[in-house]
Amino acid sequence: MSYSSEVIAQLKERYADQPEFIQAAQEVLVSLQPALDAHPEYQSQALLERLVEPERVIMFRVPWVDDKGQIQVNRGYRIEFNSAIGPYKGGLRLHPSVNLSILKFLGFEQIFKNSLTTLPMGGGKGGADFDPKGKSDREIMAFCQSFMTELYRYIGPNTDVPAGDIGTGAREIGYLFGQYKRLRNEWSGVLTGKGLSYGGSLARTEATGYGAVYFLTHMLAEKGEELAGKTICISGAGNVAIYAAQKAQQLGACVLTVSDSSGYVYDPDGIDVATLKNVKEVRRARLTDYVAARPRAMYHETQRPWGEKCDIAMPCATQNELSLESAQALVAHGCRYVVEGANMPTTLEATTYLQEHDVFFAPGKAANAGGVAVSGLEMSQNAEHLSWSFDEVDQRLQSIMASIYTSASTAAKDYGHEGNLVFGANIAGFLKVAEAMMAQGVC
Ligand code: GLU
Repeated sequence: MSYSSEVIAQLKERYADQPEFIQAAQEVLVSLQPALDAHPEYQSQALLERLVEPERVIMFRVPWVDDKGQIQVNRGYRIEFNSAIGPYKGGLRLHPSVNLSILKFLGFEQIFKNSLTTLPMGGGKGGADFDPKGKSDREIMAFCQSFMTELYRYIGPNTDVPAGDIGTGAREIGYLFGQYKRLRNEWSGVLTGKGLSYGGSLARTEATGYGAVYFLTHMLAEKGEELAGKTICISGAGNVAIYAAQKAQQLGACVLTVSDSSGYVYDPDGIDVATLKNVKEVRRARLTDYVAARPRAMYHETQRPWGEKCDIAMPCATQNELSLESAQALVAHGCRYVVEGANMPTTLEATTYLQEHDVFFAPGKAANAGGVAVSGLEMSQNAEHLSWSFDEVDQRLQSIMASIYTSASTAAKDYGHEGNLVFGANIAGFLKVAEAMMAQGVC
């Protein structure tokens, strides 16, 4: 049995109750085998056994009082997965589906994603099973303050730097930051995704979506194609989806869909980003309001957009939203590129099917790394007490995405899987972390 298979088998036995974590770990470990063969010392140093076990898992109670005066209790988490190359770095997810398995999968992915950015950031993730939907601003603040009242003792600008993720945007980061500052009596860059008036970086909001589209342009160039004139189906209507749609349309593509948890919008005239931003960011309303404002847009209740004809699919909503059946529908309708804007939106079977049917596939840990990359740039700006212009940050983002593309495609080629960006991203992300872990001894 190969070293990677051995470790996968151990994980499956030990964490049978953590399916998302097993899925993420399996996808990575399988593709590392060629790198492991080239470095037998990794096995003798039990490198994989150490890599799959988080350095620290913090779980805590988050009590808060709702608008009716009732006490609510949520479960809060921070997974400090790996600090070999820098302080733990990764978002906080606030969603009812949050549990240990989901956060361990996200934290594990984050290690390789952050390594690919070329910036010194380790991997972490956190959040709570809190549902921000329908909550008042005061309830959100009460939750965030209670969450930080426990979390603050474990984080710091050189220790662990949380950020946004699903359910955690600028408003939540503001409340979390205010509470951290109050408890520590110290202003520091302990969170990223901050508002511009208190240390945030220009282009952080746009970074994940823009970065995914920049990544896509390199994939297209590899095949001698360009984005102008292509049709794209996007899922999601959050931060990633909105800015992926904006950049794609700026570069001449037509974005046909966006979606939320109740269905998807098809707009034959191309998604109007200004209307979408108004509905989602200003009014915090449902996508049905978008349809009401656009003459030819249609809302398809309870469905996902993958049955529509498009050249490119960008799943930007959540994990496992693109199943084998969806992959089959995309291929049948001529889709040739799939770029993951969300974390692990494509199931393992769907990924394999797409790759076997000549779809050029970009895994999230490479394609959506632009968000955390600009978080890294926000940390640099905070450390030097400066702020850079939008163009400067955007230029750096573009060169980081270009370098991620090059390292993933080069590693894929060097290790015998030319054109397979899943292999390439995993191997390239892993090698840097592995080297750092080996240099630091058994820890
Ligand atoms: N949650 C985002 C991600 O999945 C961003 C993390 C960050 O900026 O630290 O990469």
